[in-house]
Amino acid sequence: MQSKINLLNLNQKALDEFFKKLGEKSYRTKQIMKWIYKDQVFDFDQMLNLSKKLREQLKEISCIEFPSVVSKSHALDGVIKWVVELGGENHVEMVYIPEKDRGTLCISSQVGCALACTFCSTGYQGFNRNLSTAEIIAQVLIANLHLNPAGKRISNVVFMGMGEPMLNEEAVYSACDLLMDDLSFGLSRRRVTISSSGVVPALERMSERVPVSLAISLHAPNNTLRDELVPINKKYPIEALMKACDVYLNAGTQERHILFEYVMLKGVNDSSEHAQQLAQLLKGVSAKVNLIPFNPFSESEYQTSSIKTVENFQNILFSKGIRTMTRRTRGEDVDAACGQLAGKVKDKTKRTHARRD
Ligand code: SAH
Ligand code: SF4
Repeated sequence: MQSKINLLNLNQKALDEFFKKLGEKSYRTKQIMKWIYKDQVFDFDQMLNLSKKLREQLKEISCIEFPSVVSKSHALDGVIKWVVELGGENHVEMVYIPEKDRGTLCISSQVGCALACTFCSTGYQGFNRNLSTAEIIAQVLIANLHLNPAGKRISNVVFMGMGEPMLNEEAVYSACDLLMDDLSFGLSRRRVTISSSGVVPALERMSERVPVSLAISLHAPNNTLRDELVPINKKYPIEALMKACDVYLNAGTQERHILFEYVMLKGVNDSSEHAQQLAQLLKGVSAKVNLIPFNPFSESEYQTSSIKTVENFQNILFSKGIRTMTRRTRGEDVDAACGQLAGKVKDKTKRTHARRD
């Protein structure tokens, strides 16, 4: 028997095609999207504006399926972390970060990550597989189901959880379509952010395919240091990355900028000279820099830069006219801070063992 189609995998265009194949009119897409995303009804029997025949047919060939929640932890600062089970001993995590005027959900795009950045807990877990669109979108639906009864809303979604979104392009693009579609989540393009460590060809495709916001995990202002911290730099060095950034900035019709993320590692990338180099690199680029205090995890030997060092770094960037902010660490008491998401990854790369030996 053919496996059922999970409707959460289908963006509006794919749903149109799905209903067309069933001989149904395209308004069925609107109806089903309203049930799923606006009314949060996932049982076909309750979708009473669909004909009985169509409901029976949908039950036979399709489903609306979610991964299950394994745990939910509340940090003292209001951050909430969920762990969801994806089968095959794989778990991923997503995190809700409430702020005064918004609520950001940080979601995962892969089980683990193959890119092995040296300061990242996810990187240490190795890699198992890509998430499907349904598994990505379900994270937002699950969080909404928990948050909405408490009067909380998700206003922003960032692909800053586990995984490298630009190594799972198709599923991430369809998920972005759904996040921005008025029939589903209806978030504006400024409120959906893909964060990438720099998969250059994918970034160039992404620039044309989805008009979302972009964050680049830079972390070092020269190739020698970036090769060490973000190993994908050996394949796509800074010069190629900056060209891809240019493609992004010039694509689309609206004005764009890029957020450059820079994790502050004591004595590694946080000197005045590094700040000068970074300012030089970003000269003339429509950029904002986000300095991220390093969040420690057990396997790592890096240390967090002192507040004074971060201030000095920030002041140098300011003096060169570069917009810079320092990210406040949130949710660390439940291991929900940036780079602490580890989930449970049945590593297929065997890298975990190689690195720990
Ligand atoms: N793979 C993507 C998205 C997930 S990582 C990327 O690298 O951009 C999300 C952000 O958390 C990245 O900027 C990443 O560099 C940062 N990060 C990773 N480990 C961290 C740590 N231990 N402390 C602080 N930030 C970290
Ligand atoms: Fe992967 Fe991003 Fe972590 Fe690097 S920082 S290992 S790309 S998740």
